[in-house]
Amino acid sequence: MISVEEARERVLESIHRLEPVEVELSSALGLALAEPAVSRFDIPPFDNSAMDGYAVQAGDIAGASTDAPAELEVLEDLPAGYIAKATVIPGTAVRIMTGAPLPAGANTVVPVELTGRLPEGVNIHQALKEGANVRYAGEDVKKGETVLPEGTRIDPAELGMLASLGYSRVKCYRRPVVGVISTGDELVDPLEDLAPGKIHDSNSYTVYGLVAEAGAVPLRIGIVRDRPEELRRVFTQHGDRVDAFITSGGVSVGDYDVVKEVLAGMGEMNFWKVAMRPGMPQAFGSVLGKPLFGFPGNPVSVMVSFELFAYPALRKMGGHLELFHPEADAVIDTPMGRKIGRMEIIRVIAEWRDGEYHARVTGPQGSGILRSMVLANALAMLPSEAGRLEAGSRVRIMLL
Ligand code: AMP
Ligand code: MG
Repeated sequence: MISVEEARERVLESIHRLEPVEVELSSALGLALAEPAVSRFDIPPFDNSAMDGYAVQAGDIAGASTDAPAELEVLEDLPAGYIAKATVIPGTAVRIMTGAPLPAGANTVVPVELTGRLPEGVNIHQALKEGANVRYAGEDVKKGETVLPEGTRIDPAELGMLASLGYSRVKCYRRPVVGVISTGDELVDPLEDLAPGKIHDSNSYTVYGLVAEAGAVPLRIGIVRDRPEELRRVFTQHGDRVDAFITSGGVSVGDYDVVKEVLAGMGEMNFWKVAMRPGMPQAFGSVLGKPLFGFPGNPVSVMVSFELFAYPALRKMGGHLELFHPEADAVIDTPMGRKIGRMEIIRVIAEWRDGEYHARVTGPQGSGILRSMVLANALAMLPSEAGRLEAGSRVRIMLL
């Protein structure tokens, strides 16, 4: 048996990121940057007003108050997007809108709420520090600065930042395409009615969802019977179209464990017993040059195995810096775990309360009880030596 950590390390060691592609900016959402984003100019590019009001010289309003306002001549009206023609000199102001470039000579903006309009000018009712309500050139980003390192995940804020930097196209790592296969003679698609002895294939749907949520592109190949020639044919048929395969079922030691049988003769495969529950038997390696994850068939085993091994691997293929789900410490509100000598992965409901995470078991934890995943928003990872933990103990949780 190997530990979860070791299995994960071995997986990640053999996974490489995909080649970069150049995409139109909005298509980069969710992808990882394949080049650092460097600024060719200051942002904002010029000193500008943070408020609607009056651009003035601070010295002119030093003694201003409601009772003794400073009276200034207004030289012009300046909307955003235009440059002032006038220069602000002592005794004058420019009426300015948010985002408009600060006129020459002005060093302070008085918000309109602190002013009173006069026929030819304005009364200022309050003294302000020099620089008040001015946004200075480069205060967000300096020219030449690396704003986003390579590997940064492009979320909405990054999209906006790239637009501010003037990127209309951007070099990113592409999303891995993942072929998703369910194996088993007992499986039928949800389109079909159940005959005696048959169950609906749920794994190809859960894995489809997991792959998509990991930022990769699922190709749901569907159900393959427990026949070696059928599985071989499907690998060959789709090998050129995918960057990785995920199969479920058929990796333990039963007579019909087709994945194991086929892969043992088809490429570089490892069959591991990983010290975890659920999900002990795992197959990992490559088929037709593409990484293959062979997960055990039980619906919960598949999902847990995916989160532990395939999720970080797909993140790495997609060029991301952050490979793992966030983790946290949590206090358990229900007892959990027992001595099994393997990492026990318990589906929990985690909630933030009184300044820390609390976790409680979702209910029955059998590896076929998919409802445990439906209810869970986190996985508690109990170390193999933990044994039974009473309420109030602390555990590590992975937030899903
Ligand atoms: P296996 O790993 O092939 O021995 O399967 C273990 C258990 O998971 C069996 O009860 C299977 O019927 C079930 N199972 C395997 N594949 C699926 C699937 N795609 N959807 C739902 N249950 C499955
Ligand atoms: Mg099977």
